[in-house]
Order: sequence, then structure tokens, then C-alpha cells
Amino acid sequence: MAVNKSLYGKLDGAEVFAFDITNASGARVRIIEYGATVESLFVPDKNGDFADVLSGFDTLEGFVEHSNYQGMTVGPYCNRIGGAKFAIDGTVYELTPNEKGVTSLHSAGELSHRVWQGEACGNDAVVMRIERADGVGGYPGNIRAQVKFTLTDNNELKLEYSAVSDKKTCLNFTNHAYFNLDGYDGGEITGTFIRINADRYTPVDELSIPLGRLDNVGGTPLDLRQGAVIADGINEDFEQLKLVGGYDHNFCINGYDGTLREFVYCRSDKSGRTLTGYTTLPGAQLYTGNFLKGPTGKGGKPVAYRTGFCLETQFFPDTPNNPSFPQCTFDAGEEYKSVTVYKFGVTD
Ligand code: BGC
Repeated sequence: MAVNKSLYGKLDGAEVFAFDITNASGARVRIIEYGATVESLFVPDKNGDFADVLSGFDTLEGFVEHSNYQGMTVGPYCNRIGGAKFAIDGTVYELTPNEKGVTSLHSAGELSHRVWQGEACGNDAVVMRIERADGVGGYPGNIRAQVKFTLTDNNELKLEYSAVSDKKTCLNFTNHAYFNLDGYDGGEITGTFIRINADRYTPVDELSIPLGRLDNVGGTPLDLRQGAVIADGINEDFEQLKLVGGYDHNFCINGYDGTLREFVYCRSDKSGRTLTGYTTLPGAQLYTGNFLKGPTGKGGKPVAYRTGFCLETQFFPDTPNNPSFPQCTFDAGEEYKSVTVYKFGVTD
């Protein structure tokens, strides 16, 4: 195990560093300070051959110019807020409406497009820290946040988040990695088998804002409880899929109680790689890269339509405007904490 720090690039004259963690079996993850981004993740296939299972970029310029939140940390509020506003104790907070001039998505990219401060932590982890000022993007509170990324010898990437604000505020962090179990250049991810432990999901309107109710997945292409190949359901004539161009939905994880629980299992029969996800959070956004438009990415290859899928663990989208959802409003000084683990393996 070792952590290696190196210069990744410069942004407006400031140095941006990369931290590489390599484990005993040779798996390797690179975290960069821009966006506290998981830049690459090399894990073995069924033959023991390593490949980078994250789509995205291999230069700072790529992340800065094209983003799509590839591998980035998103906060202070990931996913969408309807009408780009919410109220806390009667005070209305107006956010940056960065989507269609109406809704707020990923806090308008605020923390994803800033340079965090990285620090190696032991020989298997890196901590990324950031501070942001009260009122930026409309969100209340001076916020201190950190994410600890650990690569274990069992090929688990563990993400531990914590944040605290000096004013009551909404906090909802995620990581926006796009996985491709056949490698970043493995083509469309529609052949991936995926199982999600969720009886319900949050249906959305045409702006991808939750309607406020939790619908049963039963009898719909969102029923992934027994597992299915993505291609089997993604193009079905089902209104919720047509509205958003494929899978781009928040699944309500069964049995949420704040402890770490398995929520997803994925497998590619081509490479034999598997991915099992665990989280302490109540939701996970399965997004199948429906809006990827092919900017040049890693190895000069296009970051194309549906060539990566995201499993963004989160409180449900638009939670502050939906009192019946598990809430993510934190008092001044109250700590936000969450853990998500992505564990890689191979088929027998
Ligand atoms: C959203 C997608 C969006 C993507 C990239 C996901 O979290 O659900 O609708 O296109 O992020 O911004």
C-alpha cells in the first residue's frame, strides 16, 4: 500500500495535485484536487487484467472544459432542487437556477468545479477538504466539508463524507463517478447486469423534479430487485424512462436506517468484473449517461452516450421541498456524515 502525490496540472496559476493509492493486489485509484474527483480506478477482470473502470478525462483541461461531473464530488446539495429554492424556518433561499433557468442541479457545480486541499492519510487513504462561504449559490452557512477516499486490499473504494455549517442548512453530498465495468473504452454499458435493492423510487416530472410520492417499482422497468441487463428495460415504452431519456431515477433503498447496507450489485459478463455498492444513505440515483455527448476523453476516445453509469448515493432529490422524504437539514454545528463503498470483484 502506498499513496503517491504528484502535480496534475495548473488552474489559473494554482497547482492541482493528484494522489494515487495502490493496494497490495495492484489495484489503483487516482483522486485529484479539482472537484475532489476520482480520476481513474484500475481493477482486475476475470483474467487478472487491470483496466480503468471510470469514464472521463485524463487531463485537468478535460475536466474543466467538459465536466459532466465525471468522478466529481457534488455538494453541498447534489441532484435537483425544484424551482431553485427552498425554505428553512420560514426563510426562503433562492439558488442558482442552472438548468433550463428553472431548477438547480448539483448546486450549479459549485464544489465540483473548485480545487480542494488534498492530504495523504496513512498508506491507503486521501482526505480532500474544502470551505465555502455563506450564501454562495444561495445556500446558507459557512460550510466545512471533507471526503476521505480509502482503497482497501479487498478492492473497495470507500468514501466517507463529513460536513458542518455555522447556520442551519441542507447538506447532500455524492460522488458522480461513471462506471464501465469493461473499462472506460468498453462501449455502451447497456450489457451490464444490475440489481438494486429498492421496492420504490421517486417518479419525476419533465424537469426531473420528484412528484412527491414514492412509487412501487413492481411491473415497471425500474423493478431491478431480481436484477436485469440494463438493455432489457432502458428503452421500454414507459413514461418515466421516456421523460428523462433512460434510467435517471432515484431509488429508495430498502431498509434505510442510516447504517451501511448493500444497495446494488452489477456485473459485466464480458470482463467478469462485478461491483457491489453499500451506503448509509436512503437513496441512489441510477443514471445511465443518457446526456453524454462525446467530448474527447481518456485515451483520446469520446465520452459517448451511455458509456458509463452512475450510482449516486444521496438523500432524495428535492428533499427540502418534500417534508415526507427523509430529511437532510442540519442545524448549525450539527455534523453531516455518510459512507458509501464501491467494492469490485470478479465472477467465479
Ligand atoms: C442527473 C442527470 C444529469 C447528470 C449530469 C445526474 O445526477 O440525474 O440528469 O444529467 O447528473 O449532470
